[in-house]
Amino acid sequence: MEVGQEGRYVPHHPQKIAFLFSAMRHFAGELEKKGFRVHYSHLDDKDNCQDLLEEAERLAGRYRCDDIRVTAPGEWRLAERIRKRRGTISWHRVADDRFFCSFDAFAEWADGRQRFRMEHFYRWMRRETGILMDDDGEPLGGKWNFDHDNREPLPKQLDVPCPVEHRADDITREVIELVGTHFGEHFGNLEHFNWPVTRRQALSDLRHFIERCLPRFGDYQDAISDDHAFLYHSRLSGALNAGLLRPREVCEAAEQAYHDGSAPINAVEGFIRQILGWREFVRGIYWLNMPDYKRENRLEADRDLPAFYWSGNTDMRCMRRAIEMTRNHAYAHHIQRLMVTGNFALLCGVKPEALCDWYLSVYIDAYEWVELPNTLGMVLYADGGYLGSKPYCASGKYIDRMSDHCRQCRYDVKKSIGEDACPFNSLYWYFLERHEKQLAGNQRMKLIYGSLHKMKDDKRKALREQAQDFLDSLEYAPAYGRGEHL
Ligand code: FAD
Ligand code: SF4
Repeated sequence: MEVGQEGRYVPHHPQKIAFLFSAMRHFAGELEKKGFRVHYSHLDDKDNCQDLLEEAERLAGRYRCDDIRVTAPGEWRLAERIRKRRGTISWHRVADDRFFCSFDAFAEWADGRQRFRMEHFYRWMRRETGILMDDDGEPLGGKWNFDHDNREPLPKQLDVPCPVEHRADDITREVIELVGTHFGEHFGNLEHFNWPVTRRQALSDLRHFIERCLPRFGDYQDAISDDHAFLYHSRLSGALNAGLLRPREVCEAAEQAYHDGSAPINAVEGFIRQILGWREFVRGIYWLNMPDYKRENRLEADRDLPAFYWSGNTDMRCMRRAIEMTRNHAYAHHIQRLMVTGNFALLCGVKPEALCDWYLSVYIDAYEWVELPNTLGMVLYADGGYLGSKPYCASGKYIDRMSDHCRQCRYDVKKSIGEDACPFNSLYWYFLERHEKQLAGNQRMKLIYGSLHKMKDDKRKALREQAQDFLDSLEYAPAYGRGEHL
């Protein structure tokens, strides 16, 4: 069922809504072809209640159903609504089989552990699934992690493959028009829509990734380009999260490429770690800790979101390009999310709910089970280091090393003070100073606090003033209906 309420509880990117509606309509058609009876509620059906639970119960009544069976929702708010539902009809939750690790298995792994680290969980998952393991139970290639060989900066010349083009059929065209009419005021445009809406299209994206991108995925996983939104990334998160692809088949295809000699181990291991490790890990963390997790704010961040997150109207080239790519494609790759838009929000002290609403709205793959731990935990360190061992804070130097943005920016990345100084620099030192009490004791932050302590008082004061003036000069966006969807 297409319901307005699910499309609006945050202002989802129109491409995300079109992707889901078109995939649903295609799937309904496939089921009908196989002989199933399908009732499909279209968004503009006159009797559509526009609310997921009410619409399901209306139809259950109409078809005189005994009960309603629903895949376990990916968001706590919906799971809670279903749990608390007191109607005449009972709801049964069916386990979501789009993951390797069940809730119970994760809880068992987590039981009795003082600290949760993704790397430990990932090794356990490798053993459990046999993925990237040899016959003696040892990791393929002799090591668990090849990150040391990854993380190359952007080279001068790069031959980046274009994504597969999916031509819009009648269903997709109709949906795009519908979404433009009903959700056209949301951030994001529909012009560049090119997401897979059938399993066949998703499989062709997978093949394209394995053949054309995977061999260089590891090398340029952390690089950022002013021109290329996707680089060597897979663009598979939307299809994986919506169920057009299964995580096991994606990991197995990558592993096979290693056995065939068509992709190196650093690329294959790095890619599989994202899916078998990070994707499963953040989901486990989410369900283990909700709803309290969503209220965490250990750094006491209290600033609204800068308004340019919704407009892209900023002179900071790195931020502008990340936001433009997001608007055009409902996509930015992981390092743009983490080290550009995320890092900036962390340094400014944006409050978790404001930033989480933005990330949940603007990406093709965004659902709370995966968005929240990444934003609140990994980006904002609002859980005090429960998910990641240190904040991913960085000055402009990091962005300059990994991208070609700075040479096209009006700010000077080498400067920290002055009208043309890169804002990331003063914000970085001001952030470290503000949170010294919480962070200076962290072993992994020792070196950087050593530098801060060596800095002369007048320099610290100048940096503080520069950062404060910059923060005062920003416009801020009002929150979007916050609170309603918890
Ligand atoms: P690739 O770089 O090709 O990676 C392969 C796959 O690994 C992805 O498709 C994804 O399924 C998985 N993956 C990689 N990193 C992560 C991660 N940190 N957590 C979970 N899965 C991961 N991912 C989402 O699917 N939905 C979200 O709402 C989401 N929100 C994010 C918010 C922030 C602030 C950050 C820093 C990351 C977020 N991510 C989210 C994780 C990651 O950025 C995206 O999965 C990735 O960019 C999707 O592009 P891709 O398919 O080309 O990924
Ligand atoms: Fe971003 Fe600073 Fe580089 Fe400009 S100079 S692109 S603001 S890091």
